[in-house]
Amino acid sequence: AQEIGGSDKEVVREYFNNTGFERWKKIYGDSTEDVNKVQLDIRLGHSKTVEKAILMLKDGGTLSGVTVCDAGCGTGSLAIPLAREGAVVSASDISAAMVAEARRQAEEALAGGEGITMPEFQVRDLEGLEGKYDTVVCLDVLIHYPLEKAEKMIAHLASLAEKRLLVSFAPKTLYYNLLKRLGELFPGPSKATRAYLHAESEVERALENVGWRVRRRDFINTQFYFSKLMEAVPVVAAADG
Ligand code: SAM
Repeated sequence: AQEIGGSDKEVVREYFNNTGFERWKKIYGDSTEDVNKVQLDIRLGHSKTVEKAILMLKDGGTLSGVTVCDAGCGTGSLAIPLAREGAVVSASDISAAMVAEARRQAEEALAGGEGITMPEFQVRDLEGLEGKYDTVVCLDVLIHYPLEKAEKMIAHLASLAEKRLLVSFAPKTLYYNLLKRLGELFPGPSKATRAYLHAESEVERALENVGWRVRRRDFINTQFYFSKLMEAVPVVAAADG
């Protein structure tokens, strides 16, 4: 694996083990206590991304027995419903706090469920991941990295995936760039980390460079949340239909 490292990663790790952990655990949770309007809006947007990702994945047939790598799993918002669908999930995150929370939520939500394989959780940054999976998913992680690092991450994730790769990211458009500069997006403590928008064409090119092509795409937005979701497949498999 190529080293992505550098200060961005350390800042991100530190953030998601501390302030970021508290903030995002709340946003991704379901309590309405101590959650402001912006956070509720982001919760809604993010839940739509998770829902759409699951729909894309289920469109390929049953998920029973399908191996899925959830890279940058956060509190398990995707890993848990995927396990419920019968997928064999390996979920990982750079933040130990996130992984502990995801494991706790998975145990609470899934224990004893029939036909359910408990997701395997590990603390690991995504460029350190190894092995092969039918599907690799990476939702809302690339926003923390500049283009050059994001490209390397995409290439590494693609190398782990045998059949498909789902990534979501905040798209760079004139409009969102302007909003971001005005500081209307990412309000509050999330400003502790930089947010990077990525042009759809650049993410697509990063995929093409490693022999993948985008098969489907979707765009999810609410007032304060926006995310482009792409499903990519290897070019060879795509030619087979
Ligand atoms: N994917 C999850 C979801 O959609 O619910 C969480 C999204 S959250 C905005 C971003 C997550 O990416 C955080 O949990 C953070 O710790 C993790 N992360 C950031 N950089 C990472 C890296 N290099 N490797 C693995 N995880 C990373």
